[in-house]
Amino acid sequence: MLYRKEYLWFMMILWARSLSEGLKYSPSLRNLVNTMTPSLSPIRSHHVAVIGAGAAGLVAARELRREGHSVVVFERQNQVGGTWIYTDHVEPDPLSVDPTRPVVHSSVYGSLRTNLPRECMGYRDFPFVIRSGVSESRDPRRFPSHSEVLAYLQDFAKEFRIEEMIRFETAVERVAPAEESDGEAGKMKWRIESTEKEEKLRRDEIYDAVVVCNGHYIEPRLAEIPGISSWPGKEMHSHNYRIPEPFKDQVVVLIGNSASAVDISRDIAGFAKEVHVACRSNAADTFIKQSSYSNLWMHSMIERVHEDGSVVFQNGKTILVDVIMHCTGYKYHFPFLETNGSVTVEDNRVGPLYKDVFPPALAPWLSFIGIPWKVVPFPLFELQSKWIAGVLSGRITLPAKEDMMKDIESFYSTLEAQGIPKRYTHQMGVAQFEYNDWLASQCGCSGTEEWRKEMYLTTGVRKREYPETYRDKWEDHHLVSQAYQDFSLYTH
Ligand code: FAD
Repeated sequence: MLYRKEYLWFMMILWARSLSEGLKYSPSLRNLVNTMTPSLSPIRSHHVAVIGAGAAGLVAARELRREGHSVVVFERQNQVGGTWIYTDHVEPDPLSVDPTRPVVHSSVYGSLRTNLPRECMGYRDFPFVIRSGVSESRDPRRFPSHSEVLAYLQDFAKEFRIEEMIRFETAVERVAPAEESDGEAGKMKWRIESTEKEEKLRRDEIYDAVVVCNGHYIEPRLAEIPGISSWPGKEMHSHNYRIPEPFKDQVVVLIGNSASAVDISRDIAGFAKEVHVACRSNAADTFIKQSSYSNLWMHSMIERVHEDGSVVFQNGKTILVDVIMHCTGYKYHFPFLETNGSVTVEDNRVGPLYKDVFPPALAPWLSFIGIPWKVVPFPLFELQSKWIAGVLSGRITLPAKEDMMKDIESFYSTLEAQGIPKRYTHQMGVAQFEYNDWLASQCGCSGTEEWRKEMYLTTGVRKREYPETYRDKWEDHHLVSQAYQDFSLYTH
């Protein structure tokens, strides 16, 4: 147990550490604080493996180290940034269904600009602003290109010296409970098997805890299309879309109504002969020509496709099509994880997970960051990371396993009563703010800023109303000012 004096000392050290990391423009002061701060020895410090060095893994590593844990981050790519590392390469299987295919991690396409404004998108204590002294090649726009997000994540990693914890080009192949235990009641350990540099080095190691941050935009979901096995055209998933030029003069059907479908349909319309967007949520008679395009139509879902290359929509229209692109999202996928059934993925529900993070049977030794979707990801990852780090050190207490299970079951019953399918279990939308506030209250920090909530909601409305222009014209100037007022705490 922690005695009061030790606890206060521990909190002072935590405060000094976060202050030292927060003093971005005062390296001398930061060094002073570091030399004044004795090495952090909380009551429970653990050896923790983080899988992935994308936006989730980077902030997890920072928070775990701040809390005094020793951290190893496994990253199979050769740099930080995860899905934001744009590459021309695509997978050889355009639908990405072959389990033996070489995986290309990124789903980012060439023209991609963020769909959230940068003020809203960044981590809470490392705002996504243009930093003085950085190269002129940076993209200062409010909704910047993917390369700017990557540069921001690289800045974050540099600022908090995350790279020293990362093993690059190291893929985690297997994570399973280890038989070893150090005798502490309820404690378990994990065996992690990994391969470094294309299998030149194999490791088999034991960790106290594992934090899974492997990203969820790699394993495509596909729409079911009657007649598709004999349809002669080309099918692909948006995971393998990069540039519009290959679609020149083609007739393309995109399925979906996600941000990617909206963006890619417009990208391709500049080159293709015709672009048709089919969407399950549109009414059966939907047939709308998009204003400001001569070749872009919205439809209801595809009813059936035929051997002669035709596609029939539920609205009765029939067209001859060259390419069908599934912009239908992704499946959670943890190919390395063995939990003897304690964690399963069923119809895209990862469960059971207490508050989308801890499987009760294995808590707190296994946790997941980044499961919720339709959220502002980076700040949510930050709060989840703080919670996990604090729970592992014993500073924050989890309910008993049975109580966590009851909480999960009651949540599932609520979804069922509302007729919400399993695959929407982790969709949050506006509920994310209550969730964030709950996490913040567990961690003893402030909840989501009012300006951030309002900015998220306002952007959502403008995105639906003005998909072509919302990134370059906006009206929430007062929210931007409020954001920059808050940021001054971290940027001066
Ligand atoms: P990732 O970025 O995918 O990182 C996971 C990391 O884990 C990768 O580096 C991967 O190499 C590594 N990894 C996986 N498996 C293993 C293994 N077995 N061993 C070792 N390493 C492994 N979010 C926004 O905030 N704003 C946007 O505008 C926005 N636009 C998006 C557009 C697209 C097309 C997509 C796909 C996503 C977008 N997102 C956006 C969401 C984006 O996914 C999140 O912002 C965030 O980057 C996710 O971070 P992550 O760390 O969870 O996953």
